[in-house]
Amino acid sequence: MKALEPYLRKRDFKVTSEPRGGRPAGGALSFVVQKHAASHLHYDFRLELDGTLKSWAVPKGPSLDPADKRMAVHVEDHPLDYGGFEGTIPAGQYGAGTVIVWDRGTWEPVGDAGAGYRAGKLKFRLLGEKLQGGWNLVRMHGRADERQEPWLLIKERDEAARPAAEYKVVEAEPASVVSGRMIEDKPARAPKAKTIAAARKAAPAAARPRAAKKASGDAEVEGIRISHPERVIDASTGITKLDVVNHYLAVARLMLPHLATRPVSLVRAPAGIDGQLFFQKHAETLKIPGLKQLDPAISPDHEPMIEVDSVIALIGAAQANVIEFHTWNATTRDATKPDRMVFDLDPGEGVSWKQIQEGTELTRALLEELGLVSFLRRAAARGCT
Ligand code: MN
Repeated sequence: MKALEPYLRKRDFKVTSEPRGGRPAGGALSFVVQKHAASHLHYDFRLELDGTLKSWAVPKGPSLDPADKRMAVHVEDHPLDYGGFEGTIPAGQYGAGTVIVWDRGTWEPVGDAGAGYRAGKLKFRLLGEKLQGGWNLVRMHGRADERQEPWLLIKERDEAARPAAEYKVVEAEPASVVSGRMIEDKPARAPKAKTIAAARKAAPAAARPRAAKKASGDAEVEGIRISHPERVIDASTGITKLDVVNHYLAVARLMLPHLATRPVSLVRAPAGIDGQLFFQKHAETLKIPGLKQLDPAISPDHEPMIEVDSVIALIGAAQANVIEFHTWNATTRDATKPDRMVFDLDPGEGVSWKQIQEGTELTRALLEELGLVSFLRRAAARGCT
């Protein structure tokens, strides 16, 4: 079947136990939602149509709240038998990781399903174990030519709808409807104990790990439980959350002197660096162990500023998905008298690396002339290497 060619191309059936074909359709149309712990955890939403499973990858999973518009990336058709697949796709294979059948049942199109699918406007009812009632899959406008078209999955307002504040179905009902299994029962990529051990060697002797006690799938670094250690933070390199934590552990000794005694702002990337970033200057709801709340007098009009001055706080921040630490140029001793100045040599369009070097040397020469000691600090935001 032509519709399945991309699916078949991506897989080596000698290695993976995923189904290779489909059974003939008959009777009611099936639907399945598979929870898939690949490099990114996501939910594969599949509707039987024209003899295959039309498929969307929904990063956050479905919501019963009609106000939640869930991104659903249109992906290749899957064979009908895939709807029953639960298991582990071997490492190195396309979509490597664990799959569970999170929900399944039958679906009923409202109107002509084929026409709706082609037009990017599918209206339907679900009769599943977790998902019921009216739903819509809507293609986002003006992007019909994209290879992985973004659609939105939206619950309709009806008796099966529930406000997210009161009930989140993906959190309330995480297990497989087939086996009762949790996706965490077999993590996609087990945390690498070796990496942790290697990083520990480089860590300051003052902060040795405490007793290890971890939930399945979690890692532990310096006594701090690292949730979702396998989550990919940078899709372009495959760097995981555990890699980031271990990086901060490895550089802690060099980094802490620059963090200590300075108020710090944190940049958090809970969904990775391509997701939404959160800038945080105050402890607020963040529960980071060892994080210091500073004297409110430093910023009288706001919540107390924060300081990261220990390995525990640094690793705790990394566990809270902090990827950047921005310190003040003043210390907590006197917030009104900065003791440091930063010159940001940000290359404009068409400025060469050589010109940047020249500009940097000129700046340094000028500062020396003024009797100021300068240090070079490099940030790789623009990919300069
Ligand atoms: Mn998937």
